[in-house]
Amino acid sequence: MIELTCLQQHFTEQGSDIPCRFNEPLSEHTSFRIGGNAEIMAFPENSEQLQKLLLMSAELDTKPVILGAGTNVLAPDEGVSGIVICLKDALDGIEVLDGHRIRCMAGVTMTRAAVFAANNGLTGLEFAHGIPGTVGGGIYMNAGAYGGEISGVCECVQVMDPQGNIRTLDKAALNFSYRHSMLNNSSDVIISAVFQLEPGIVSDIRGKMKELMTKRSASQPLDMPSAGSAFKRPVGHYAAALIDQAGLKGLRVGGAEVSRKHAGFIVNCDNASANDVKELIRQVRERVWSDCGVWLDPEIRIW
Ligand SMILES: Cc1cc2nc3c(=O)[nH]c(=O)nc-3n(C[C@H](O)[C@H](O)[C@H](O)COP(=O)(O)OP(=O)(O)OC[C@H]3O[C@@H](n4cnc5c(N)ncnc54)[C@H](O)[C@@H]3O)c2cc1C
Repeated sequence: MIELTCLQQHFTEQGSDIPCRFNEPLSEHTSFRIGGNAEIMAFPENSEQLQKLLLMSAELDTKPVILGAGTNVLAPDEGVSGIVICLKDALDGIEVLDGHRIRCMAGVTMTRAAVFAANNGLTGLEFAHGIPGTVGGGIYMNAGAYGGEISGVCECVQVMDPQGNIRTLDKAALNFSYRHSMLNNSSDVIISAVFQLEPGIVSDIRGKMKELMTKRSASQPLDMPSAGSAFKRPVGHYAAALIDQAGLKGLRVGGAEVSRKHAGFIVNCDNASANDVKELIRQVRERVWSDCGVWLDPEIRIW
């Protein structure tokens, strides 16, 4: 019989109504397919359950780790001791507020939000169709593609602080910039977001989403596990072009490789470990630096 840790025992006693799994492999919840076990992975279905989890974590003096769809994170090989709160599909729900605004819960995928907007004749989220993360992760990262960015459509966000208090932050307070929001420096959890869109023609919106998806599949290694672009776009350059120029396509450490299809992606081609990916990132940064004097900044969140 497997013995429960103190935290797991406490959780069993206190949080029995919250869906959770013990010793859950993070590799099954990250698009990289990398990561050891989470001591506890909880899937709160509403803000009350999320509040209970945050209060319990504070009481136990443990800082919970928030996971959306896990499409931008490199989880550690040794796993995470403590509570991982997984919001994808858990914190669920999407609605039209009035003629041109929609509210999405943080666990809804951005693709679903974009399809919902399209079905309701609303334009503005086409760029997000095909970004595989959740709305929560998209706000946190200020996700963007093909000229669009979450900051361009976000009106406000509802967050919960570690004491369980809910407040609304408007766009100005979120201090968005390229792949950054002020939430990167905060312990708040995003619960939902309101997007301000414009009325549009359904067939045009769907046509645009299809066009962008075709571009994406033609240029990105979507058939391999990855966490999207490994590096941020340096000012005045494209990371993929610099990596390609330095001759690094196909560079490999263990099971991690610089994609041969898109040099900006690191792919897990053969049971890569987090350490393989970290070492590959280190080598790419150093070699690009010595090739052209540009220091790349990782876009992937390394836990
Ligand atoms: C094939 C592929 C293509 C991609 N293409 C793009 C692209 O075109 N543009 C782009 O911007 N990104 C892209 N990405 C990266 C990724 O999808 C985005 O960054 C996305 O916004 C991450 O969302 P997520 O739910 O997966 O977040 P996760 O990876 O789960 O988390 C990312 C960070 O956000 C935090 N977080 C997540 N949810 C919350 C929440 N509710 N409250 C507080 N913090 C939270 C996490 O703690 C973590 O630090 C791509 C990834 C892949 C695998």
